[in-house]
Amino acid sequence: MHRSLRTTKIIATLGPATDSREMLGRLIDAGMNIARLNLSHARPEWVHRVTRDLRELADQRGVTLGILLDLKGPGIRTGDVPAPIPLTRGERFTFVCGGEAPTDGGKWTSVAYDGFAHDVEVGKTLIVDNGEMKMHILAKTEHRVECEVLTDGSLGSRRHLNLPGVRVSLPALTAKDREDVLLGLAVGVDYIALSFVRDPADVEELRTLVAGAAHPPALIAKIEHEFAVHHFEGIAKVADAIMIARGDLGIECPYEELPIIQRRIVKRCAQIGRPVIVATHMLESMIENPLPTRAEITDVANAVFEQADAIMLSGETTVGKHPIACVEVMDNIARRIERSGGAGYHEAAEIWHPREKLVQSAVRLADQLRAAAIIVFTHNGTLAQYAGWFRAKSTPVFAFCERMTVARRLTLVRGVIPLFMPTCPDDLEGSLSGAVQRLKRSGHLRSGDTIVAIMPNASADDTFADAVTMRPVA
Ligand code: PEP
Repeated sequence: MHRSLRTTKIIATLGPATDSREMLGRLIDAGMNIARLNLSHARPEWVHRVTRDLRELADQRGVTLGILLDLKGPGIRTGDVPAPIPLTRGERFTFVCGGEAPTDGGKWTSVAYDGFAHDVEVGKTLIVDNGEMKMHILAKTEHRVECEVLTDGSLGSRRHLNLPGVRVSLPALTAKDREDVLLGLAVGVDYIALSFVRDPADVEELRTLVAGAAHPPALIAKIEHEFAVHHFEGIAKVADAIMIARGDLGIECPYEELPIIQRRIVKRCAQIGRPVIVATHMLESMIENPLPTRAEITDVANAVFEQADAIMLSGETTVGKHPIACVEVMDNIARRIERSGGAGYHEAAEIWHPREKLVQSAVRLADQLRAAAIIVFTHNGTLAQYAGWFRAKSTPVFAFCERMTVARRLTLVRGVIPLFMPTCPDDLEGSLSGAVQRLKRSGHLRSGDTIVAIMPNASADDTFADAVTMRPVA
C-alpha cells in the first residue's frame, strides 16, 4: 500500500545550494510541493531556466508542482558589495542612495532606493540584515545617511534594511516588480507573492496587473509589516492566500508579539478559508548543521498542529549545506504531527454559501465513514479548495482537474492532492470510475474501500446543484 500522504505542504526557496537539475529533482523527490523563486535575488535568465527545468522534472515524475514567484515589493535592500564588509561597534558607516560614492575612505554601501534618506529619521535605529546588526542614524543629507554601528557584524550584498514603524514612500509595486510580474506571467508561474503589503489596495493593484493573463496566478499577500497586521481583515478578503513572513515581521513588530500574531492569522485564515503559509527560520540552524534544534522541531510541529496549509524553507534551501535533509525533516515532522491531531480552528469556519456547506457535509461524511478518499472534480479549483479548508481527519482529498493550471494552483492547499485528468462534464459517472481506477493503480485505493465524491453541477458553476455521493470501491 502507498505510504500515508502528508497533508501539510512544503515550500522550498531555490538558490545557489539547489541550482542544478539534479538538486531540483531531489527536492521534488524529497517532497517539495512548491518551488519558490525569490525575485529579490534572481535574474530573468535564471527564472526562465529554472521554471523550464522544474516543469520538465515534475512531468517526468508525474508530480503536480507549484511555482511561486516572490516579488521584492517595497522592501529596502543594500546594493552589491565585492566582499562582505566587517563592521565593529562604534564605527561610522554610510548608506548612499542615488548620489556619488564617498571618497574619504570610510566604509559605505549603496541602497537601491533613492528616497531612503527622505524616509529615515535622525536619532532612530536602523535594523540591518534581518536584525543581525543595528545602526544609530546620526545625520542625513539628500543622498546619504550617516550611521554609528551598534553591533559587530559583517555586511554582504543585497541585505534587508528595516525601519520599524515607518511607511516608506515606495509604491506597492516598484518598476522592477512590474517587470517581474510580466516575467512570471510569461513563464506561467502558479503563485505570485507580494512583499511588504500594507493594505488591501496593494493586493488589488497586483490583481489588476495580472487580470488580463490567460491563467492568472493566485496572489499571496505577505504579512511582514505592522501595517499589514492592522489591515489584515481587508487584505485577507482580497488575497487568494496569506504568508506569515516571520523574518521581517519579527523585526517590524516587537518579537514577543510574533507568536500571537502568527496564531491569530492562522486561526482567522481557518475561519475564512484562506490558505496560509508559515515562513522563515523554521530550520535555520540546518543551514550549517545536519539536524535541527529541538526548538525548531517544535516550531515546525506547532505550525503543522495549527493546521497551516504550508510550511516554508528559505535560507535552508537557498544557501544551506543540507537542503534535501531540510525537506526530509519537515516531511517527517509533518507526517508524525498530523497523526496526532490538530487544533481544529476550521470548526469555527464562517460559511454561508450553499456550495461551502455541501462540501463541509461531504468532508464530515468522509470522517464518519473513515473513507479512504474524497474525490472532487473541480473546474476552477473552488470545490477542491473548500474540501481542503474543512480539514478531513485522515481522508486525503484527490482533486481531479481538467486543466493543469488549476491543478498547480491547488498545490498550496492542505490535504489536497491535485491531479490533472481530462474529464467529461456530461459523463461524471464515467469520470468517477476513471478516477477510481487511477487511484487504484497508484496504490491509493483498493477494492472494498469507501470513497466520497463531490461532483460539480456542470451547467452552472455557482448554483446549488452539485452532488455528493459515497460508494464502495469495486
Ligand atoms: C520573510 O521576511 O520572512 C520573508 C519570507 O520574506 P523575504 O524572504 O522576501 O525576506
